[in-house]
Amino acid sequence: MKNLSGLPKLTIGSIFCIGRNYQKHARELGNSVPDEPMVFLKPASSLIGDGESIQLPAQSNEVHHEVELVIAIGKKGKNIPEQDARDYIAGYGLGIDVTARDIQQKAKDRRHPWSMAKGFDTFAPISTFMPIQPNTDFSSMDISLAVNGTIRQQGNTVNMIFPVTTLISYLSTIFTLNPGDLIFTGTPEGVSPIKSGDSICATLNNGEITLTILVK
Ligand code: ZN
Repeated sequence: MKNLSGLPKLTIGSIFCIGRNYQKHARELGNSVPDEPMVFLKPASSLIGDGESIQLPAQSNEVHHEVELVIAIGKKGKNIPEQDARDYIAGYGLGIDVTARDIQQKAKDRRHPWSMAKGFDTFAPISTFMPIQPNTDFSSMDISLAVNGTIRQQGNTVNMIFPVTTLISYLSTIFTLNPGDLIFTGTPEGVSPIKSGDSICATLNNGEITLTILVK
């Protein structure tokens, strides 16, 4: 297992992801807005770090970027009340929830799980993480993603349907959260296809955190 860059005491554990957590993104894919968080997981084998490359899989012809705020858990917990959830956060970073959209659409049509569409090798690039500070405000973070220098996604966490503390509390009713677990908190609108040779640059709060990934 890999240590978490920026928070080296943490070994990366489970990778939880939230779908449809921004209204405009849910709508751009023709989905309804959920009344409780939609949860899926990615395998550890999908992780790559800053400066590494996404390998486009032969099984897909349409791979999309989804830039997301990622939370790192720092403390073990189960049934965490929302008002205590912040105490369980070690830090935060950026991630790209890489998605084989054509495989996901087929899975949706067949009512199959999303594990294949979301879980190929290299489909979970993550940045270096920042430790949480007393003034860290998860409800007003700018996140953006550019491909070859052109902005494709530009959002703010203020538009999350379920805020970070709600997600932690909700997940902990199902899963015991452990130090090193990651939560991909959902993507704003603007998801679009990537192709071989593309250079992706994601930024949080205009450069507080950056993530640069190439597409092979
Ligand atoms: Zn996503």
